[in-house]
Amino acid sequence: MRFEMRKLLVEMPDETIVKVPYFTCGSREPVLYIQAAQHGVELTGIYTIKLLMEELRREEKLDGRLILVPVANPLAVRWRRHFYKMELGEPYSSEHPHQMNRLWPGKPDGNETERLAYTIYENLVSGAEYVIDLHCWEMWRCSAALGLEWDKASTEMCRYSLLEFVSLSPKNRFTGRFKGVITYVVTEAGGHAMTIEHSGQRWVFKEEASRICNGILNVMRYLGMIKGEPIMPQEQFIVGRSPHKDLYAPKGEWLIILNKGPGDRVDKGEEVVKLVDLNTLSEEVMVSPIRGVIYEVGATRPNVDTRPSEEVLVILKGERYRVATIYESKS
Ligand SMILES: [Zn+2]
Repeated sequence: MRFEMRKLLVEMPDETIVKVPYFTCGSREPVLYIQAAQHGVELTGIYTIKLLMEELRREEKLDGRLILVPVANPLAVRWRRHFYKMELGEPYSSEHPHQMNRLWPGKPDGNETERLAYTIYENLVSGAEYVIDLHCWEMWRCSAALGLEWDKASTEMCRYSLLEFVSLSPKNRFTGRFKGVITYVVTEAGGHAMTIEHSGQRWVFKEEASRICNGILNVMRYLGMIKGEPIMPQEQFIVGRSPHKDLYAPKGEWLIILNKGPGDRVDKGEEVVKLVDLNTLSEEVMVSPIRGVIYEVGATRPNVDTRPSEEVLVILKGERYRVATIYESKS
């Protein structure tokens, strides 16, 4: 199959134009819309879309229409931070006026980011029955599919993404600024949506891109857009609900040495991290209390990547520090 490249032209408040390139393929129903890089340091999804296009070029036929926006927020990517105009060290938040994923469906006469969202929504998203929004979170947490619990098609897309971790949000989570999250806006309008978080920001993590490209192809098989039967995941954990254990560091001042990364399997009793006492250099080994899969390890606080002092793998005196979270495997 062949893709056509086109551009959206978005007029900014100062009357300059920002171009948003996109690719389309096929016609008719269903329409699947996929975008990446709403947040300017979440880059792997751009590469995932490139890999997806390479895979799909080998397919003979597409049943339906595919719309791909590799860089949904070119202003933030060029700004090299999550949001356009975000300051260095400023925490990630829902409140920032350029936090794109709280601004959908955008505003034609709003700020720069609201105008981007508006033009993309009006021209590309509003005609789509299915939406996949590609993000990246910290490299300390395993990739995951995020679905909207009350929408069956959304939870099915998460299942067929083949990712080991699925996180489901209830409807009452979407209040205030969260009503402007694209997946919620699409679902309220009658569509079906899933977010995928790759593991790792700032760089392109090639293995993550391949894994997620593979999952999107499987979702497209589930939607009947490309030939072949979708495969079912071997084991999937629901974040926060499936049985899991948190590992906490003993009291002290420690350097954290990782023996395992997010997504790695561990046996019961296997070493996950080593803690080295900052003063005496003596060691403490932390082992997994269960057989399972690591969800988070290392810098386990939310949004640590925008607070560089918290991303450093050092535990301070008096801190109750969660070193890892491991989900119990039955397979
Ligand atoms: Zn994001």
